[in-house]
Amino acid sequence: MKHPITEAIRIQTARTNEMEHASPMFLTSSFCFNNAEEMRAAFADETEDNIYSRFSNPTVQEFVDRMVALEGAEAGYATASGMSAVFASFMALLKKGDHLLVCDSIFGSTQTVIKKYLPNYGIEYTYVSTDRMEEWEAAVKPNTKMIYLETPTNPGLALIDLELVNTIAKKYNLLLNVDNCFATPVCQQPIAFGADLVIHSATKWIDGQGRVLGGVIVGKKELIHDIYLFCRSTGPALSPFNAWVLSKSLETLDVRMERHASNALTIAKTLESHPAIESLKYPFLPSHPQHAIAKKQMKNGGGIVCFNLKGGLQSGRTFLNSLQMLSLTANLGDTRSIASHPASTTHAKLTEAERLATNITPGLIRISVGLEHVDDILQDILQALEKC
Ligand SMILES: *Cc1c(COP(=O)(O)O)cnc(C)c1O
Repeated sequence: MKHPITEAIRIQTARTNEMEHASPMFLTSSFCFNNAEEMRAAFADETEDNIYSRFSNPTVQEFVDRMVALEGAEAGYATASGMSAVFASFMALLKKGDHLLVCDSIFGSTQTVIKKYLPNYGIEYTYVSTDRMEEWEAAVKPNTKMIYLETPTNPGLALIDLELVNTIAKKYNLLLNVDNCFATPVCQQPIAFGADLVIHSATKWIDGQGRVLGGVIVGKKELIHDIYLFCRSTGPALSPFNAWVLSKSLETLDVRMERHASNALTIAKTLESHPAIESLKYPFLPSHPQHAIAKKQMKNGGGIVCFNLKGGLQSGRTFLNSLQMLSLTANLGDTRSIASHPASTTHAKLTEAERLATNITPGLIRISVGLEHVDDILQDILQALEKC
């Protein structure tokens, strides 16, 4: 077994007989058999032959195999988006009467799935504070089945101690399901801390160029098999074209993330003492309240920096309006730096109290730091700050 970074470059599950060096794209919806017996055996799960691309496809499998290597997992399944991966993990593994423990600061659409749809299927949930870890154990109920969390959280960059949560999960025999989208596997490997499942929106850093949607779940073999059976019947399969793009992207994930993180650290250090900024968060700055957790479970601080403008809501809008280069868009994890103002956009539908409860202050700005030269990114942010 080579280093996971080497595996992410060299695993080639998708092959033809042409001795191609780069991986081909298997744009086919189904696969042929030589005879009735071969076909029977494939349908009886006696062979690993591909049958139909809703079930499996070599190009998709290559992306999965590379993700499995990067996360140190046993198996995986790729989906059409991050949300279909999240949803499949709930629907395949939870049933009526089960209870889910969730950290209170999670991705907006995940919140919607949990609050609006899971109760329709008789699945209960409790939100626990990201900051107060003592709440977690107290919230465990006899019917609790799964812990679901994100670290670092979006957009507040709070961190959750994976080792500590895993102790609770193991003590009460709960599945630990971690959305590792913000960190990526080259920065943080939740399975090494005991997680059973790891989910990614591959749309973000994994693609890294804002071109395709995708999702993936990796983890323990039997759990992934249940998820596979759910997906095989319900149909959120990743398209082979998107898988081909994502598989290629994994070959550069480590080098890209190193530069995203070093650019982000430079920006965080420079802006920390800026007079227009009330407070700034970046996991690898010693001023981050959970810096010790960052050092324990992350290899670098990732590519997101967030700060709080002294001027509140109005300054947040002025900041966005004053940017000349950074993009105003809903995505993150792109080569191009992106700025967003959660209070007036992604989290505008929440009440002020709900926003404040998860540290989304009126002047909060989230920067997804890109791969442009760091001087240009900084210069644009600094000139916009001057107007705030
Ligand atoms: C974007 C995102 C998702 C959802 O992924 P899609 O690919 O947009 O469906 C889930 N979790 C986190 C943390 C995200 O940032």
